[in-house]
Amino acid sequence: MNTSQTTDMQNYGVLFSLFDEYHNFALSTHINPDGDAIGSELGLYLFLTKLGKSVKIFNTDAVPDSYRFLPYWDNIQNVHSVRTYRPEVLIVLDASTLERIGKTLSKTLLPTHKLVNIDHHATAEAFGDVNLIMPSASSTSEIIYKLIKHHQTPICKACAICLYTGLMFDTGCFRYSNTTVETHRIAAELIEIGEFAPDEVYRNVYEQLPVAKIRLSGEVLRTLQVTRDGKIASVYATQRMFQKIGTTADAVEGIVNQIQAIAGVEVAICASEMTDRSTKVSLRSQGHVDVSQLAAEFEGGGHTRAAGCRVAMPYPAAVTTLVETAQRYIDQSSSEHGDCQKG
Ligand code: 5GP
Ligand code: MN
Repeated sequence: MNTSQTTDMQNYGVLFSLFDEYHNFALSTHINPDGDAIGSELGLYLFLTKLGKSVKIFNTDAVPDSYRFLPYWDNIQNVHSVRTYRPEVLIVLDASTLERIGKTLSKTLLPTHKLVNIDHHATAEAFGDVNLIMPSASSTSEIIYKLIKHHQTPICKACAICLYTGLMFDTGCFRYSNTTVETHRIAAELIEIGEFAPDEVYRNVYEQLPVAKIRLSGEVLRTLQVTRDGKIASVYATQRMFQKIGTTADAVEGIVNQIQAIAGVEVAICASEMTDRSTKVSLRSQGHVDVSQLAAEFEGGGHTRAAGCRVAMPYPAAVTTLVETAQRYIDQSSSEHGDCQKG
């Protein structure tokens, strides 16, 4: 533990010298950006801008409507705006792998000097010249908070609401197991600095749903299957459903959490059919199964309790394969659990 703390401190130092040495920075994050991706990007953007740096943000996918209340969200540019621009330093946030910023973007947005990777995923690859990977942090936004604190620069109001939003999102509104006393302290400090109403942040993120999303939930939940032992719940969403309802695969986000809430369910699986007929899979666990490992078997990743992958199979085969694999993990964990009880 000490070693990792020393490494984090050393990495802050390395990052601060990059901030001293270079002027042109670009930031990016993963495809289908979520609250932590957008929040940590905007938080770091505001901090670096305050240091007098030129900072640009390029993302593959547009900022979801639910984050367009955040200050400076419209400074986030798309992959086409990169053209011939070359930052001195590229900082990739919350992405796990460089490829997850998007196939095109990862090949066009090339830094002339340094690539920095800031992440909290257990499965994060150390792809940067500098890697600040803190799996114990609740969110990448929390890492940015700590970075700014160590720099001893005051956090501005706009930055506070962005980082709070990231923290709130990645802790599932402070209810997942990554929520600690420290997370609450940081959240309280950010609310104090930002002078925003936390309930309004919540409403902006979670309660501005298009009606199509609720209709889709209905269709998807109707596909629910639970294994005989009651431990694995799975649902799927198809292109036909999206077309019928007039929505896209993005609207599937969050449905997996609903089936995870079923009593006795250890692993929840939600499979979405993509336009190329491959399948995007979201995985959730109650804690006995490490779904980041399960996802890694299919070249995906994430956290112990929330992970995902994309598999080159039609959705029915993907569901069958994932359920079988999850069953293997559950069988393993029950035998290990038995051993623990003996000890
Ligand atoms: P979600 O199911 O909400 O899309 O994702 C849950 C978690 O798994 C997130 O932390 C996300 O970053 C990670 N994740 C989802 N899909 C993938 C994937 O295809 N590859 C990797 N490496 N991580 C993923
Ligand atoms: Mn995150």
